[in-house]
Amino acid sequence: MRKLDTKTIVVASHNAGKIREIADLIGPFGFSAKSAAELNFAEPDETGTTFEENATIKALASAEASGLPSLSDDSGLVIDALGGDPGVYTANWAETADGTRDFAMAMQKVETALEKVGAVKPEQRTARFVSVLCLAWPDGHTELFRGEVEGTVAWPPRGTAGFGYDPVFQPEGYETTFGEMSAEEKHGWKPGDAQALSHRARAFKIFVETCLDA
Ligand code: IMP
Repeated sequence: MRKLDTKTIVVASHNAGKIREIADLIGPFGFSAKSAAELNFAEPDETGTTFEENATIKALASAEASGLPSLSDDSGLVIDALGGDPGVYTANWAETADGTRDFAMAMQKVETALEKVGAVKPEQRTARFVSVLCLAWPDGHTELFRGEVEGTVAWPPRGTAGFGYDPVFQPEGYETTFGEMSAEEKHGWKPGDAQALSHRARAFKIFVETCLDA
């Protein structure tokens, strides 16, 4: 396991929601970080079939373009009743004909698919959010960190906080969806905290514990 010995990194993402959450997570560690979006890096094609492969593609592209260690996130919603869909294609389900993303439409697509297979009761609508973070160095070395959070797919969507599919994901043990939670409740985590809630914060905790001397 390679340690990260610099505080200057790139957040290898063009997704504003992820960039915001990763900025919240790295903030307390004194990183100076720009995102791939701010640096106008091209978005690489996500040609992998696993979260690990796509996270690696994004982190390596950014490390090569910047000459700096780069931290990417590949994530998605894995729904049991849909055989794991949308999974690595979670962002694709939100794509519209004009190339923009519409998450109200994507959440409706998920609901339609669940109704089609008769998954109407909460116990038939189990799912998990998965996040794989990849830290890549310019010499091509990579480290991967995976976080998951179990829950159910709620309907109708509730709450306006967060991004993406947050309004339809209700984590196990909570009455609220991610869309109804504060940023602190969804993904707040700092060293010393025993547990983090969101998939991304759980992956980040492993990154800190393995790659940083925090
Ligand atoms: P990708 O990792 O860029 O392929 O995209 C993952 C997609 O999963 C995002 O565009 C979001 O729609 C969704 N997603 C990942 N993490 C979250 C989250 O924390 N909340 C809501 N949606 C998420």
